[in-house]
Amino acid sequence: MNPFDKSDVYFKNHDLILIFIFDKMSEKWWNKENNDEIEDARILNNYKKRDLLDKKLFIFDQDGTIYLNYILLDGAKDFINILKKKKKKFVFITNNSSKKTDTYREKLTGILNIKINLDQIYNSTLATIEYLKNQKISKIYCMGTQEFIEEINKHGLICTEEDPQLIVVAFDTTLTYEKLKKTCFFIQNGLEYIATHPDKVCPTSDGFIPDTGSFISLIESATGIKPKKVLGKPNPEIISFLLEKYQIKPKECIVFGDRIYTDIKMGKKCGTTTALMLTGESKIHDIEKFNIEPDLVFRSFNEVINLFNEKS
Ligand SMILES: [Mg+2]
Repeated sequence: MNPFDKSDVYFKNHDLILIFIFDKMSEKWWNKENNDEIEDARILNNYKKRDLLDKKLFIFDQDGTIYLNYILLDGAKDFINILKKKKKKFVFITNNSSKKTDTYREKLTGILNIKINLDQIYNSTLATIEYLKNQKISKIYCMGTQEFIEEINKHGLICTEEDPQLIVVAFDTTLTYEKLKKTCFFIQNGLEYIATHPDKVCPTSDGFIPDTGSFISLIESATGIKPKKVLGKPNPEIISFLLEKYQIKPKECIVFGDRIYTDIKMGKKCGTTTALMLTGESKIHDIEKFNIEPDLVFRSFNEVINLFNEKS
């Protein structure tokens, strides 16, 4: 298939140097001078082979996939409306454990102007709660926001400093030195800790701010002890808990996301179909960089809608 057994081939003819790339997804050679052409070829060749209609559960990352900050991305609302009409199940996921699912429902309802039920939002807090319940743990020390603690309490778990069974480190945007001290003392005294997700930073309009992954590094530095478990993307729990909840097989589920190394990686780990949206962080050439190949690549949800209509 690749006669040169390498991705870049240089043809030198007098003063003219042409660079050709063998594209694994489209299985064609392309002139590197025209990156647009490569991108078009890959996208078209890739997604025409697949069928979206049979999917039963549609999972969406939020920022960079459905919206950018508070701006709705092209075709997202129309696609969600199509899924509603076709009575397909869909869930919006996020790693952010600083806010309640209620807060995310309000944000999404406001941006999409579509009514969404609370159970259509799933964040790393819910995955953590599921994990704690499976482990039969009910009393925890929480390094988290008030909203995180409310979500934990709502599901029957207790946040306490009195004989906790485990520590949970979440995206605590209200973190104080006092809370850090208590966390480290508990760990030094032999209590294990888990974290809601591994993100080191969280993007904001003012720049990147320290997220849970950075807190883990700090705690690890101070205590020399790693977390027992880290939930959230790219770890598979968010999806596996959802598949279990809806009794759906991985192949009946598709994950849409804009980050190859979290959204797509997580879907791959679970065996779901994966769709990379080029509307956020990742560019098509990042596929090689991370060596994680999504099943589908779309430039916007308008392309997803076209494919959906084509097959119906
Ligand atoms: Mg995203």
